[in-house]
Amino acid sequence: MAPATPAAPKPETLAAFEAAKGFMPVREGLALYEAAVSAARELGLPLLEVGTYCGRSAILLADAAREAGTVAVTVDHHRGSEEQQPGWDYHDPEVVDPEVGLMDTLPTFRRTLHKAGLEEHVIAIVGRSPQVAKMWGGKVGLVFIDGGHTDEHATNDYEGWAPHLAVGGLLVIHDVFPDPVDEWTGQAPYRVYLRALASGAFSEVSATDSLRVLRRTGQGI
Ligand code: SAH
Ligand code: MG
Repeated sequence: MAPATPAAPKPETLAAFEAAKGFMPVREGLALYEAAVSAARELGLPLLEVGTYCGRSAILLADAAREAGTVAVTVDHHRGSEEQQPGWDYHDPEVVDPEVGLMDTLPTFRRTLHKAGLEEHVIAIVGRSPQVAKMWGGKVGLVFIDGGHTDEHATNDYEGWAPHLAVGGLLVIHDVFPDPVDEWTGQAPYRVYLRALASGAFSEVSATDSLRVLRRTGQGI
């Protein structure tokens, strides 16, 4: 029997994804989509993202949620990570609010989702990941960690959200680089990935460039 073709986003979704501002290459996006569709279909639970930015990856989660009749929830304070602030490598002056003089990616995110026709499949939460995680009540079918890259942020994201992941659900971590690439790229997500595996509660499903997909198989996180 031929291997099953991986689930793929609709062509118009892929086009919207490619047109969106953000930090997710296509290959990793396709792997994220595949994980999201399978988690959503198997569990029928919401798909949770930390790190919305301008909505590039959220488009894929939204399409997967639509496909499976659930919803994507995406959390961001929309003020940018450390490395996205003015003067740093990943800064984009187009996403600064001139009135307050701070980054604000929320308007761009909303336009991105609107253009993709996916607004009704997404719940956007503007807030800090640990605060939102603390008041979150239900289980989710997928946790996608793509927020701040310091150890503090990445650890908070893992500790805050992994307990909300249903057993059988998927933990997806972006920017996992076993070897340092630059000051900002990925050592904290890599440490979180190692920690998840070491807990014994996760097993690895796939690795696509810097994207890792783990399945929650047990209770102890
Ligand atoms: N997923 C996006 C990229 C996310 S960039 C894409 O596909 O393009 C990382 C985002 O994490 C930034 O928008 C930043 O504001 C957000 N972030 C960083 N630390 C955070 C925190 N503690 N709580 C909420 N959001 C945070
Ligand atoms: Mg990332």
